[in-house]
Amino acid sequence: MWLADAATSRFLDAIIDNIPAAIFVKDARDLRFLLINKAAEQQMQCSRRDVVGRTNAELLPASEADAYDAVDQEVLRSGVMHVGEGVFRTPDNGDRLMHTTTILVKDHGVPRYLVGISEDITERRANEARIVHLAHHDALTDLPNRVFLHERLVEAVAAQRRSGGLVGLLCVDLDNFKAVNDSLGHAAGDDVLREVAERLRGCVREDELVSRNGGDEFTVLQPRLGSPDEARQLAERLIVELSRPFLVNDQEIVIGASVGISVAPQDGESADLLMRHADMALYRAKAEGRGAARFFEATMDARLQARRSLERDLRLAFAKGELELYYQPLLTAGDERISGFEALLRWRHAERGFVSPTEFIPVAEEIGLIGPITEWVLTTACAEAVGWPGDVKVAVNLSPAHFRKQNPVFAIARALAESGLAPSRLEVEITETVLLNDSESNLAILHQIRALGVRIAMDDFGTGYSSLSYLRFFPFDKIKIDRSFVHELHSNAQCAAIVRAVTSLGASLGVVTTAEGVETVDQMERLRAEGCHELQGFLFSRPVPADEARALLGVASGIRDVS
Ligand code: C2E
Ligand code: MG
Ligand code: MG
Repeated sequence: MWLADAATSRFLDAIIDNIPAAIFVKDARDLRFLLINKAAEQQMQCSRRDVVGRTNAELLPASEADAYDAVDQEVLRSGVMHVGEGVFRTPDNGDRLMHTTTILVKDHGVPRYLVGISEDITERRANEARIVHLAHHDALTDLPNRVFLHERLVEAVAAQRRSGGLVGLLCVDLDNFKAVNDSLGHAAGDDVLREVAERLRGCVREDELVSRNGGDEFTVLQPRLGSPDEARQLAERLIVELSRPFLVNDQEIVIGASVGISVAPQDGESADLLMRHADMALYRAKAEGRGAARFFEATMDARLQARRSLERDLRLAFAKGELELYYQPLLTAGDERISGFEALLRWRHAERGFVSPTEFIPVAEEIGLIGPITEWVLTTACAEAVGWPGDVKVAVNLSPAHFRKQNPVFAIARALAESGLAPSRLEVEITETVLLNDSESNLAILHQIRALGVRIAMDDFGTGYSSLSYLRFFPFDKIKIDRSFVHELHSNAQCAAIVRAVTSLGASLGVVTTAEGVETVDQMERLRAEGCHELQGFLFSRPVPADEARALLGVASGIRDVS
C-alpha cells in the first residue's frame, strides 16, 4: 500500500524530506540506515549518501554509537516505543540536545524498520532555563529573588530540623534610598541597587545566599550558621559596606542600611516565621535610628501586632468620622482676651480609651493618612471659626510629613474657599523639622501659604534643633515657645534666659510670641513681665469641644473660672 505507484512514492518522499524533524529509518535486521531526510542530514552534517548502508558504529564516536545501539536493541526486543534525550556531537554546531522517539515498524508481524524521529531541543531547553532563571532572579541586579530565597530557606530549615545546627536570616533594608530615587531619579536609583547587590555578594561565603526581595530590601541566608554571633558579625560587615559612599552621577552619596536578624530554630522553625521575625527585627532596627542590626525578640511580635492594630483602627476611625477636633483658647497676655483657638485632634478609641495625638499622628504620617486627616482638620476648623466673632483666629497644626508628600497649600486654599473664612483668621503651625528637611522646597511652600494671606506660626520653639537662626529663614508671624521652657521658667535660669531672648527678638522683629503650657498664675505673671504677647495653657482652659469653645467666647472675661 505504501508504494502503490511511483507518483505516490515521490509524494511521500517529498513529505518525509521536508518534515522539520530529523527522520532516520534503519533496517530492523542489521540496523543499517535505509533512509534519512533533509533535517537528519543537517543534524548529522553529512549527506545521505554517506549514511545510507552504514551502522551507528561506522558513523558515530563509540560512546554515542553504543548509546544509540542500546536503544535500538531495546526497541527491537520489546517492540515498545522509546522516547529519550541525548547529546549529539556535531563537527561545526557544537553539542546539540536531541529529543528522539524510536519506533519499530512491522510488516505482517515481522520487524522491518526502526524509525527514529529526532528533534533538536537545544534552543528550547536554553529558553526554558532562561525562563526558570528569570522566575528565580531579579532582573535589575540578577540576584536570586524572593521565590528563590523562599525555596532555599525551606530547604535550609528542613536540613536544620534533620541534622541540627543553626540557620541565619538577615533582612537588609537601605536607609536613605528613597531620597536618592526622589532626588536623583530612578536610573540613578537602579545604579545604586546594582552596586548594593555587588557589595552584598562580596560579603558572603559561597554557601550563603544574597537575594533581592524587591525595592530596597535584600536578604542574606546563612544555611549553616556556627553561632548567632556569626550572623551579627555579618550584619555589621554589611552595614559597614553599605555605609561607604556610593558614586552616582559624579556625586558621592551616603546610603547606609539597617538589618534585622532571625535565627532558626530559636526564632521559628518554618521559613515563613523566620522571614516574618527577621522583618520585625528590621522594623525595630529602623525605628531605633537606622544603621543598626537587631536580633528578633519575642516581645517584638506583640508590639508589632499592637502597632498594626493601631494602624487599622486609625484608618477605620477616620473613615467612620470618629476623630474629633477640640479647641484650646489662646489669650492676649495683657487683658486675657481670647485671640484665637488652636484646633487639636482627639481620638477616643472604643477599647483603648483616649489615644494621644502624639501617639497617633506619627502613625498617620507613616501610613499616608496625614494628608487626608489634615484636610479634614482644616475644613472642620475653618467651618467652625467662621461662626466665631470677627477677630478670633483659628490655628491648625501642619505635619512635616504632609510637606513631604504633597503641597498643603491646596488643602488650605480649599478649606478657606469652602468656609468663606478670611485668610487672615487662619494660622498654620509648623515645627522646625519642616525647615530641616528639604528646606528649600518647603520654604517655597511656606511662601505660597503666606501669599494666600494665611498666618504662619513656628510651633514648639526651643525643642530639637531649634536655633534662633530659623527665624531668619522665614518671616514667621508667630513664635510659640515650647511648654518645656514655661514649665521650668522658675527653676531653670537657662529656660528663663531663652524665653527672654525669644520675646525680645519677637518684639524687635514684630513677631507675636506665644507661651504654651501655662499652668500657674506665677508662670503667667512672669511671662507677661517678659513681654510675651499671648498665652495658652491649662490655667485658662484645656482643649474643649467646639460647643464649649463657642460658650467660652460668649463668656470670655470669666474664662479662668470655667476651666
Ligand atoms: P502642640 O501643637 O504643641 O499642641 C499643644 C499641646 O499642648 C496640646 O497637646 C495641648 O493639649 C497641650 N497643652 C496645652 N496647654 C497645656 C498645659 O498647660 N500643660 C500641658 N502639660 N499641656 C498643655 P495635644 O492636644 O495632646 O497635642 C499634642 C501634639 O499633637 C500637638 O502639639 C501637635 O503637635 C500634635 N497635634 C494635635 N493635633 C494635631 C493636628 O490636627 N495635626 C497635626 N499635624 N498635629 C496635631
Ligand atoms: Mg501646635
Ligand atoms: Mg506646641
